[in-house]
Amino acid sequence: MKPILPLFVFIDACGWEIIQQDPFVRDVAPHRRPLTSVFGYSSACIPSILSGRYPGEHRNWSYFVYDPKRSPFRKLRALQWIPAALTGRRRVRRWLSKYVKMRLKFKGYFDLYNIPFRYISLFDFTEKKSPLQPGGMNEGPNIFDFLQERAIPYHVSQPTAGEEIDFAFLYWPELDGLMHRVGNNSKEVPAKLRSYEEKIARLMAVAREHYEEVRLYVFSDHGMANCDQHLDLRSRIDALGFKMGEDYAVVYDSTMARFWFFNDQAERAITECLEEVPEGEILSDAELKQLGTFFPDRYFGELIFLLQEGTLIVPSHMGERPIRAMHGFHPDAPHSYAALMTNQPDVPAEISAIPDMFKLMIRDATLAHAVNRGSKPAVTATSPQREPANY
Ligand SMILES: [Zn+2]
Repeated sequence: MKPILPLFVFIDACGWEIIQQDPFVRDVAPHRRPLTSVFGYSSACIPSILSGRYPGEHRNWSYFVYDPKRSPFRKLRALQWIPAALTGRRRVRRWLSKYVKMRLKFKGYFDLYNIPFRYISLFDFTEKKSPLQPGGMNEGPNIFDFLQERAIPYHVSQPTAGEEIDFAFLYWPELDGLMHRVGNNSKEVPAKLRSYEEKIARLMAVAREHYEEVRLYVFSDHGMANCDQHLDLRSRIDALGFKMGEDYAVVYDSTMARFWFFNDQAERAITECLEEVPEGEILSDAELKQLGTFFPDRYFGELIFLLQEGTLIVPSHMGERPIRAMHGFHPDAPHSYAALMTNQPDVPAEISAIPDMFKLMIRDATLAHAVNRGSKPAVTATSPQREPANY
């Protein structure tokens, strides 16, 4: 029996709003708080959790950027001659994505989404490595680099809480996919939460056979907003008559559009057009800096246009058809907030945004590693809390 196992269960999209109406894990993890998310999609949120830094520092933000010189997709241009009826099909796209990922040796998540093949060679893909592995960040270290450097034995993802680890990180992505499909009010959401509760109960039972104390942290990266409004931004921009790849480039993500300009005329006209769109706003540099998503080299776009919560860009480069719910709106929007649920009553107040989870992870990993080896903790100031017999 070892003294401590820090168990971090990351549930994608289990937002603060979702658990307002649901007693999710209240019995095993009664201490709850909202966490401010990071502006962007999971491609931004997960690296921020794992590194404790914002996208402006770690440079994992949106997937596709205008970068024809470094585009690995040049060969895919030939695919533009395949009828759109075929390449537009989700199943064909998925198969092609797998094939391309293998050929280009990408290690992270990869999907071609809905980027037209005639434009794909304009873009580079920014997550070539997996942020869930050591060395997986675009800039700087992540939690797994930290653990590896200190030789702290850890376990990532599927639960098999054995005796030999000092740290466990589990990643459960299914709630996110479910809510994208059915929305956040569906009866399927509480049903999914109940199944997660059973899974956590089983996990805790196994862990307690091997550890005197299991420090449980159930947390998420963002929430989920139902999307009842759709905006066809592409037709408005197309109507201005500028040429993609010559006058400007754009990536239509589902909740934001990112532009690069190659002449003043295009920049002026597109900016003026966007200023007239009431469903969204152009983010200023000051705001981007405050959100931790400002890039001085404009790598992810020279102009970022963000929609208000509940509106979706349809069609977009992420999908031809709408989905029921989405995240990636402003972190201050009500449904953007992530959540933290824990059996630890002493989580410091400054743990208030998702990158702060990194601090908790290194604190507990360091503590457990030291205590489990029979030495005094080197870093943490708080002595390990014993769990009450029933909570
Ligand atoms: Zn999602």
